[in-house]
Amino acid sequence: MEASNNILMFPFMAQGHIIPFFALSLQLQQKGYQITFLNTPLNIANLRRLLPPSSAIRLLEIPFNSSDHGLPPHSENTDSLPPNRIYDLLVASTSLKPAFTNILKGFLDAGAPPLCVVADFFFGWSAAVSHEFGIFHVIFSGSGGFGLACYYSAWINLPHQNSDSGEFVLPDFQEAGKLQVTQLTPSLVKATDDDPLSKFQIKNLTAWANADGFLFNTIEELDKVGLSYFRRKFRRPVWAIGPINLPLNGRPRAGKSGGIDTESCLHFLNSKPPSSVLYISFGSQNTISASQMMQLAKALDKSKKSFIWVVRPPLEFNINADFRAEEWLPENFKNQMENENRGVIIEKWAAQVEILSHKSVGGFMSHCGWNSVMESLSRGVPILGWPLAAEQFYNAKMMVEIAEVCVEVARGTDFEVRSEDLREKIEEVMSETGNGKEMRKKAFEIKKIIEEATSDEEGFKGSSVAAMEDFLQAPLLIKNLAT
Ligand code: UDP
Repeated sequence: MEASNNILMFPFMAQGHIIPFFALSLQLQQKGYQITFLNTPLNIANLRRLLPPSSAIRLLEIPFNSSDHGLPPHSENTDSLPPNRIYDLLVASTSLKPAFTNILKGFLDAGAPPLCVVADFFFGWSAAVSHEFGIFHVIFSGSGGFGLACYYSAWINLPHQNSDSGEFVLPDFQEAGKLQVTQLTPSLVKATDDDPLSKFQIKNLTAWANADGFLFNTIEELDKVGLSYFRRKFRRPVWAIGPINLPLNGRPRAGKSGGIDTESCLHFLNSKPPSSVLYISFGSQNTISASQMMQLAKALDKSKKSFIWVVRPPLEFNINADFRAEEWLPENFKNQMENENRGVIIEKWAAQVEILSHKSVGGFMSHCGWNSVMESLSRGVPILGWPLAAEQFYNAKMMVEIAEVCVEVARGTDFEVRSEDLREKIEEVMSETGNGKEMRKKAFEIKKIIEEATSDEEGFKGSSVAAMEDFLQAPLLIKNLAT
């Protein structure tokens, strides 16, 4: 059978996964590969609206009915789910296996097996299925090496269970340094042998050993420590091909669009001096508590800094609720900030990359989701880290200790935030002197490292470009060996 040049992309159903997979699809397509992008019907419909009719990316539906799994109807994406139900979607996603098997079988029956399956790290099971059909399979991580290594090791070893002090070291990843129980996502702290999420995690993480290799949306020079962990652990190729960013005009939107259009936002930024505006967003699926939100608003008010803040409903409210400034924010805060041209509040979803790309943005208060981290570093913007879940705690740790471009301002949704502390940290990072200046310099150096990693000029290939070429050779080499 002829080796095709079709690559099958299969991300988990969340913006933070679909976005980097889609960005990678566009890159691979530009290199002449045919892309089939597989996802559940609602996500495919969203992408279809976004793609120009002339696009050669083939969008393919895999059947999934969230109600069959006790989830609200049409919950095919984490942004319409309250944070405490996200893990249910994860567990439910294992039900995609029979349909995925049929899809691969269909390709084979038609005489056109994909050259390679690129699957999400939550779909570890897809490696064995791909191999049943003789198809090369890699896991693509939209997370960084360091963060994912800590996450993997913490779930596999549960090291906090042997620590009385609340502090511990990961037994097989001591290079990560000391960790605290507050850096574990609550579901991990409560993990038992037989709760559904723990069962899912162990089965899934163990299945990673079946993959033929790992692609990471990261930079070798920045993330060596974490990438070495995976090389050591799995003895498989690990390719750092980042940053995989979507072009500015090609970003999928989540849920309702914000209460302010991108142009007004850019107009606000145009009116501000360079590096003077703080951008605040906690990503596509997390949010902070109501009291934390109040404290943050007060801190912004006192700091007198300009800001753009993407507000999702606080934890105690329905995540799909309409925006209620009067309940979630101090009285008259929104109007006052807007009237003074001090701050812009965006409901739920902003054009993040456009905002971060503007020269007036000088800091990013972020939950440290890896896409957000890469988007910030690629633009030389220092970070105020407020990790909320999953591997975000370790991303923040890496940004503070290794990259030295971040101040951690709070941790999780139970953290007792005081507006005065937040104000101090906001002023520290946004300052043109001292630590703020140092971090901005460091962030600018990292931006340069990232530019170099992605440069492809005569006589010079950056590390990410070389890694991508190496990856694309791998399925062909295996095929040639087999024939
Ligand atoms: N994003 C965006 N606008 C928003 C919130 C998020 O464009 O208001 C994008 C952001 O640019 C990033 C992705 O959604 O590409 C979020 O991924 P990340 O890994 O940062 O966090 P997650 O949402 O997965 O927690």
